[in-house]
Amino acid sequence: MKPKVLVIEDNEQNLYLVTFLLERHGLEIIPARTGPQGVALAGHIRPDLILLDIQLPGMDGYEVARQLKLIPSLAGVPIVAVTSYAMEGDRSRGMAAGCVGYIEKPINPETFVEELRPFLPPGWKSEATS
Ligand code: MN
Repeated sequence: MKPKVLVIEDNEQNLYLVTFLLERHGLEIIPARTGPQGVALAGHIRPDLILLDIQLPGMDGYEVARQLKLIPSLAGVPIVAVTSYAMEGDRSRGMAAGCVGYIEKPINPETFVEELRPFLPPGWKSEATS
């Protein structure tokens, strides 16, 4: 079974890039364009990893993380914050909200999947051929 990655991201270009990179490596992507949509999907699909944009309209990523942490079936599912905010304290705010990792935008296509590897199921191998 392919690992499932829930990607909560409101920016279509970022969503496209993340989807392209992860699918190329053999991961299954489930997109959500808002925080509430992501929270609603997460409980049903039981993702292996959640990528969470922090800068979301309406409910921001910190609040989304807090709500995700309230879902019992998601216990142990890593949440990785993805943010363009270079603000001091952003990382610690994310950790306090329940994120276990932090990736800065702009995403580096060369290293993105490797940055996520620590949060993917143990033993997972990329299917990318090049
Ligand atoms: Mn955003």
